[in-house]
Amino acid sequence: MSVFNEFTWIDSLPQSSKPELKLGIGDDAAIFQSSEDWAVSTDSLIEGSHFNPSDKPFNIAKKLVNVNVSDMAAMGCQPKFFLLNLHLSPNWNEKQLNEFKDGLIKTLQNWDIALIGGDTVTCKEGPTHLVGTILGQPYSKNAILRSGAKLDDDIYITGELGGSFPHRHLTFEPRLDWSKELCLSCSPSAMMDVSDGLLQDLGHILDESRVSAELELEVVPIHQDAMSNTEPLINALSDGEDFELLFTLPASQSNLLPKNIPVTKIGKIISGESEIFARKFKTDPLKVWPRLGFEHNHSSHS
Ligand code: ADP
Ligand code: MG
Repeated sequence: MSVFNEFTWIDSLPQSSKPELKLGIGDDAAIFQSSEDWAVSTDSLIEGSHFNPSDKPFNIAKKLVNVNVSDMAAMGCQPKFFLLNLHLSPNWNEKQLNEFKDGLIKTLQNWDIALIGGDTVTCKEGPTHLVGTILGQPYSKNAILRSGAKLDDDIYITGELGGSFPHRHLTFEPRLDWSKELCLSCSPSAMMDVSDGLLQDLGHILDESRVSAELELEVVPIHQDAMSNTEPLINALSDGEDFELLFTLPASQSNLLPKNIPVTKIGKIISGESEIFARKFKTDPLKVWPRLGFEHNHSSHS
C-alpha cells in the first residue's frame, strides 16, 4: 500500500443500518432482503475529465454521490444503498483521502443513504477513478422510465440550464426532493436527468418512447452562469451536467404539479420517429432541429 493503509481506512468507514440491510461493510459481500422493486445504477468520475486534481476532495466525493443520486431522482426512486470503488492514483495522500471520506459520509448522510461496501485499489500510475453504485426503490408504485412519453404529453424541465462548468458541476444539488414530490403528486409519464445536454437527453426519451417533440426554445430557462457567454441559449440546450429533471406529463395532469417546484413547459410530444422540431420564437415556423452538433448548425436557425 503506497499512500495509506487500506484496512485502517476501510475500518474507519461508518456502519449504517436500514430495515432491509442484514449485513453491511466488513464481509466479502453485503446482504439485503426485500420482495420489492429495486433500481440499481452506477456512475464514475475520472480525474482529469470529471474533476481536476486541484478540486477539493470533499467536493469530489460530493459529486460522486450526487451524480448517482441524480440517476435515482431521474428514475423516481429513493436511494438507499451506496457502494464505492476507489482506484487511487499514487498522487493522492492521506489528507486528501480523509477529506474525501468526510465528503462521502456527509453527502450520504444528507440523503439518508447507507454505505454498504466497495473496493479499494491503489494503482502505480494513471489518474484516480471513482466509481459509485447506488440502489434505490420507487417513491410511488413504479419507477419512471424514459420509455413512457405519450402523444400530446407536455414536456417540462426543472430549474435552469447551461453554464454548469467550470464551477456548478461539482457542487450541484440533485433534484431528489423534487422527484419525490413529482412522483407523489402527478406521476410523470417519462423522466430523466439532464447530464449530456437538454437536446441530446430529450433525444433519449424520444428514442425510447418512439415519439417526436415540438419545442419552444424561447421559454427554455437559462441559468445565470451561462448569461454572460456569447450564446447563452446554446449553452442551455447543449451543455452537460445540469442535472435538472426533464419529464413528460399528460396535459390533464398539469394542475397536479406541485406549486413550489420551478418547472417550465418547453414543448410537447407529437407522433413521429424521434425527431425534434423547434423554433426560437413563437412567430417562426417549426424546423427539424439537430440534437447533436448543435453548435455547428445553430447559425442556420438564428
Ligand atoms: P475483499 O478483499 O474480500 O474484496 P476487502 O478487504 O476489499 O474485501 O473489503 C472488506 C470490506 O470493506 C467489504 O465489505 C467491502 O465491501 C468494504 N470496502 C472495501 N473498500 C471499500 C470502499 N472503498 N468503500 C466502502 N466499502 C469498502
Ligand atoms: Mg472477498
